[in-house]
Amino acid sequence: MGINTQIEVTDLHKSFGKNEVLKGITTKFEKGDVVCIIGPSGSGKSTFLRALNGLETATSGDIIIDGFNLTDKNTNLNLVRQNVGMVFQHFNLFPNMTVLQNITYAPIELKKLSKDDANEKAMQLLETVGLVDKKDAMPEMLSGGQKQRVAIARALAMNPDVMLFDEPTSALDPEMVGDVLAVMQKLAEEGMTMLIVTHEMGFARKVANRVIFTDGGVILEDGTPEELFDNPKHPRLQDFLSKVL
Ligand code: ADP
Ligand code: MG
Repeated sequence: MGINTQIEVTDLHKSFGKNEVLKGITTKFEKGDVVCIIGPSGSGKSTFLRALNGLETATSGDIIIDGFNLTDKNTNLNLVRQNVGMVFQHFNLFPNMTVLQNITYAPIELKKLSKDDANEKAMQLLETVGLVDKKDAMPEMLSGGQKQRVAIARALAMNPDVMLFDEPTSALDPEMVGDVLAVMQKLAEEGMTMLIVTHEMGFARKVANRVIFTDGGVILEDGTPEELFDNPKHPRLQDFLSKVL
């Protein structure tokens, strides 16, 4: 691995029964990369992200994150996961905990932070995502956009080296999308390594340094936003863009 390589994926395959969803993905992500992954529904984007977080077990191939091979049975997946934050389309907040408790739960339980330290860090993160005044609210009282910003703060509370986002704005009302994307853009500008499955092509063009187009379980095109959006080479990417842009 190169010195700046943070994630190295080699010939990754994943099947569910007879359904081969990932058909040989090979790619690398460097520290500070902001990569948007685009592609049609069902093309394996979520499966790929989930594999990077150990939520799906690869059928074959290698995933090395920060030097740990996720596909090696001896790797402690829980430790790797602590360094890889994940944000889901449907937020997945703990419904029975306040906003503050949602954010401090894992740092206290897994990182053994004191409650005071965890609270202090959580308040800083709530400042970052603009939700200090919601610290004692229950998730059900929040809008979708607010829930997603809490979910981002919760993931950041573990000090991850990498953040994975799986369609973080797809479940939001249009007027909520901008606030969430603004938080993600700030994170990108601060140098966080981010892999983002998204249909927000404007965001991808503006914030990503690299865009990957997947279809049928393989990477069909990989390049700068300008290369993919202004000069798409693969007919399937051209077709995809004609539908979403
Ligand atoms: P995308 O995120 O690009 O829409 P997914 O990775 O969610 O695609 O799904 C790709 C394919 O894998 C789909 O055909 C889906 O039905 C299948 N799939 C995903 N997760 C599972 C699972 N847990 N069990 C069985 N099939 C699954
Ligand atoms: Mg998906």
